[in-house]
Amino acid sequence: MNRKYRKTVIAANWKMNKDADETKACAEEIKSLVGRVRWCDIVVCVPSVDIAAAVKAFRDCRISVGAQNVFYEPSGAYTGEVSVPMLKSLGVKYVIVGHSERRKYFGETDEDVSKKVRAVLEGGMSPIVCVGEELAQRQAGVEQEIVAAQVKLALQGVEPANLRRVIIAYEPIWAIGTGLTATPEEANRMGEHIRTVIRKMYGARVARSVTIQYGGSMNENNAAELLAQPDVDGGLIGGASLDAKKFAAIVEAANQ
Ligand code: PEP
Repeated sequence: MNRKYRKTVIAANWKMNKDADETKACAEEIKSLVGRVRWCDIVVCVPSVDIAAAVKAFRDCRISVGAQNVFYEPSGAYTGEVSVPMLKSLGVKYVIVGHSERRKYFGETDEDVSKKVRAVLEGGMSPIVCVGEELAQRQAGVEQEIVAAQVKLALQGVEPANLRRVIIAYEPIWAIGTGLTATPEEANRMGEHIRTVIRKMYGARVARSVTIQYGGSMNENNAAELLAQPDVDGGLIGGASLDAKKFAAIVEAANQ
């Protein structure tokens, strides 16, 4: 973390878990466990159908609600999709874009990711843009090239003034939901590399303002060490965020 230049953001990704009642119950528990948070922003990204319940439950605290996906067109004949204006009207502040599960199971391309990033920014919200390499790519030693290409494509056409609202989540695919975690040094090295890519595109002042999270089996035991790295400005947390106590412990680690 480097709080002098950028925000620390801890974000939960509940994926396709919890119905409206479970959302309410877990939100109440998180609220009761997370004390006064001074040093980081907290986001809980819930399934679209639970957004209204989450916004209501978190209304009286500083925890923001995020969505896990969005479509880039504002309206029209796109059965089953949800638009930026729809999310905004519910009170959503953050949207996860390009999660590896969306890329893998729903065929989302870098071009889709780039359109979604711009749509979310134009709608006044913050995209949490997921990038990361597969295990075979790391074993082949090409992880930096892969991630650099994903970052460049995702940020295509994004105005420098909007970069402050962009969060990049570095999520090595081999670490998502597997219990395997990048070492703090590996996570930091990639954070630094992503910042270098952004610096080449937008200059040093913009690059140092961008929040770069780590995601991939972050939990209550490894969060402090990961977050102690200068280029790990928060976390995107799947499995451990489903348990309010574990999530609150990660928030606590970021709030030191
Ligand atoms: C994620 O889905 O973004 C994620 C990081 O999951 P997990 O924490 O379970 O690895």
